[in-house]
Amino acid sequence: MKIYSIGGYNEVGKNMTAIEVNGEVVICDMGFFMEKIIPLQEETNDVPDDVLIKEGAVPDDSILHNKKVVAIVASHAHLDHIGAIPVLAERYKCPIIGTPYTIEIIKHIVKDKKKRSLLGNLMPLNTGSILKATQDIKIELVHITHSIPQATLIAIHTKEGIVTYLNDYKLDNTPTMGKKPDYARMEQLAKMGIKVHIEESVRIEESERTASEYIAQIMVHDALNRAYQSGKAVVITTFASHIARMRNIIKANEGRRKIICIGRSMSTYMKAAAKLNLIDLSEVIICSSKNQSGSVLQKVAQNPEKYLMVVTGNQGEPNSVLASMAKDDLDYKFQKEDEVIFSSFTIPSPINKANKHNMEILLRKKGARVINNVHVSGHAKREDHRDMIRLLKPKNIIPSHGNMEKLASFASLASEEGYVLGKTFHIMANGGMIEIK
Ligand SMILES: [Zn+2]
Repeated sequence: MKIYSIGGYNEVGKNMTAIEVNGEVVICDMGFFMEKIIPLQEETNDVPDDVLIKEGAVPDDSILHNKKVVAIVASHAHLDHIGAIPVLAERYKCPIIGTPYTIEIIKHIVKDKKKRSLLGNLMPLNTGSILKATQDIKIELVHITHSIPQATLIAIHTKEGIVTYLNDYKLDNTPTMGKKPDYARMEQLAKMGIKVHIEESVRIEESERTASEYIAQIMVHDALNRAYQSGKAVVITTFASHIARMRNIIKANEGRRKIICIGRSMSTYMKAAAKLNLIDLSEVIICSSKNQSGSVLQKVAQNPEKYLMVVTGNQGEPNSVLASMAKDDLDYKFQKEDEVIFSSFTIPSPINKANKHNMEILLRKKGARVINNVHVSGHAKREDHRDMIRLLKPKNIIPSHGNMEKLASFASLASEEGYVLGKTFHIMANGGMIEIK
């Protein structure tokens, strides 16, 4: 079999990997490189496909253009895994497979980019089911925990053995929504024999285990309890796709304040989750754009102590709702002692760090209190990776979703576990191919 490392092997983001057996290709993920996308989308949301390709904001899939692609499988609904589907998927004329929530989000971005021809290719597949893609290839989605609903490990059953693709995950044994990882099925796959395992590396350099979302639930509860004591306005920001966190915010609020969510991406992910009964939004007011927020924010300005604002902008994005608020561009103007809670970490890229820094300066100038890091990560750390390798016992490992430092850090862990670089552990770069016998 051949493995093509299309994207996400030189950076965090832009995920795309292809597996070829007997001339049949399965693609796992087609993601955006968010760092490149955000500046491009500052002017318009409608950046032409050729600009996205030229700027390296989507993976360069030219190596696959003449190949027989039989399926595109999305591991989960984060944009660095599915964002490029509207840009790249049309040429392959094959099913696009994912869990119902992932498919719901793909449906939305495909419509948004006016690529309606792709709608007919979308094929929801529940975890625990197996789909026969061709005579020789079966595709299975195995439930895993991450920071978005219905994340999966992809198992591709081929004539030459099983390939597993685990990009992204954490091992959360006390999740606040959904079940813990399907360890039993992963153990079965290990017994059947995994030939190649592809696994994310985003937080491999941190030598610990990632804490459960249950811890974040407690942190959010405590943060709101303390913030509410002041009777001032409270704003909380988190990742728009983090539905478990959103549920924890609603829960922690305990009906004390009216919740207003503002932001385009937040509204997309929340409404998709509500449609599949993953979240109850009956007590939440959603404004899907800044323009829609005018009358609601005017009410907040009159009685700030009655509202909790949940907004986009946790990475300091200049076109986010929080950035507009910080610049006094919306109908609520920050007052002294208002509290802004970041239920997130800043993803440590230079652009994010600069954006976040600028935003904090603006907020503090207005006298707002900024509470950072009310958060736990959605990515496995070093000892989780070790547990996963021991669970799956793959013959070969290929680390993905990371720059060279992260992939190399995975190599040192793998060597502790008995893997040999170049023989059973393979470091790849974007645009690469490896044949595994
Ligand atoms: Zn992810």
